[in-house]
Amino acid sequence: MRKIAVLLSFALFALLPACQKQELYKDNRVMMGTYVEVTSPSKDAAGIVFAEFERIENLLSKYKPESEVSKLNALGRLKVSPETFYVIKKAKEFWQATEGAFDITVGPLVDIWGFTDKKYSLPAEAKIKDALRLVGSDKIILHDKDNVVEFMLSGMRIDLGAVAKGYALDCSVNKLKREGISSCLINAGGQVYCMGDKSGVPWKIAMQDPRGKDFSGYLELKDKSASTSGDYEQYFIQKDKRFSHILNPKTGYPADSGIISATVIAPSGLTADALSTAIFVLGKIKGMALAKRFPDVEAKIIEEK
Ligand code: AMP
Ligand code: MG
Repeated sequence: MRKIAVLLSFALFALLPACQKQELYKDNRVMMGTYVEVTSPSKDAAGIVFAEFERIENLLSKYKPESEVSKLNALGRLKVSPETFYVIKKAKEFWQATEGAFDITVGPLVDIWGFTDKKYSLPAEAKIKDALRLVGSDKIILHDKDNVVEFMLSGMRIDLGAVAKGYALDCSVNKLKREGISSCLINAGGQVYCMGDKSGVPWKIAMQDPRGKDFSGYLELKDKSASTSGDYEQYFIQKDKRFSHILNPKTGYPADSGIISATVIAPSGLTADALSTAIFVLGKIKGMALAKRFPDVEAKIIEEK
């Protein structure tokens, strides 16, 4: 299910003066477990974006056995590429900045709740306790000198599902810039990047109502990313309770902060991605306080009624 829908407003397009009308090229592909859609006046944009997403997926996806993340998870210590090192280092910084709400070492928890293989189940208390022992980004050792990442405990596993898409968006935008392209909208499931504008006006994005089919509002963005983390994308219901894929690394249970959707708007896709996940765990008050500490970051939170 797509959380942020892109408004393909032909009405809006028709309102533009004739001199501003520009043909837009559109293409889409399923990548990083989501539907990636690219809209741009440049016919080369989509190919560039897809190539960057593929490159990042091959480094960071835990679902690709040959990725650096999969190898690191299997071995517990690995010399990685500068890019993978950078993303893990940034993730650890977000762990620190969010007092542990954002934590890529949730891998074993994601597995036992069945969110990795989509065979959802409520794990036994003892299993959660066992997995929690392996959680905590303080147990990731980063050797800056030679890009070696090391886990302190065997069995630890990282999951970059909350940050890889945002990073892939940043990489795509940088690559597009290097290729001389200045206008592009990338919609990657729960996260968009609006690069430049659309024939002189900001890109217009419709936000989906988390509990309905309608839109809950619109965003007009230029050179910004918007990322939404919600409890309605991957979840299961048991005993009338909703268990979603974003886990509280302190309790080992799915986050239960009263938030049903957290949208973060930021100039960096990676920042928007990490903060939307963290805010979903922290709840409205702590989440808003967190967003305020970052320059040019705006958060929109919808709570359970
Ligand atoms: P997102 O949709 O960006 O909020 O990312 C959610 C995904 O990140 C989940 O499907 C897990 O793979 C992973 N994840 C779950 N809980 C956390 C957490 N507290 N911190 C970091 N990553 C998480
Ligand atoms: Mg995220």
